[in-house]
Amino acid sequence: MASSNSDKNPLIYEDEHCVIFCDRSPKAFGHLQCVPKRHIKDWTYLKPLESDNSLLEHMYNVGREFLIKNYPSPDNQYRLGFHSPGHNSQFHLHMHLISFPLSLPRHEKRYSGEGLTKVDQVLSELIRKFKEESL
Ligand SMILES: [Zn+2]
Repeated sequence: MASSNSDKNPLIYEDEHCVIFCDRSPKAFGHLQCVPKRHIKDWTYLKPLESDNSLLEHMYNVGREFLIKNYPSPDNQYRLGFHSPGHNSQFHLHMHLISFPLSLPRHEKRYSGEGLTKVDQVLSELIRKFKEESL
C-alpha cells in the first residue's frame, strides 16, 4: 500500500459514515485522510449534537485502528487532527491520520504543531458547546 502521487487516489477503506485514502502528497511515513460522507465544511461547522460527536468518535476510532494496523509508526507516535480554518487547502472536513516520523522537519509546524488541531481538542470543544446549549 505504498503512497503515490498519481491522479488515482483510491479509497483504501469505506464504511457507511466515512472513507479513508492516502494523502495526495504524503508528509510522513504514513499519511492518510479520513473523510465523512456527509458534507461538513470544516471542523468549526461540526454541531454540538450527539450525531456529530459520534461521527467524530467513529472517524477517530476507525482512522486510528487503520493507521496503526497498516502504517505502524517506528517511533510509536501518531497524530490525528484537523487543519484549522486558515490552514485549510480543502473545503471538506478531512481528518489527517499521521504516523511519524514526518518526511521532512519543515512539515513539523503544519502537521504536528499548531497547524493541526487534535481530535480530542475538537471533541472537548463540541462537548463544551453541547453543555452550554443545554443549560
Ligand atoms: Zn488538511
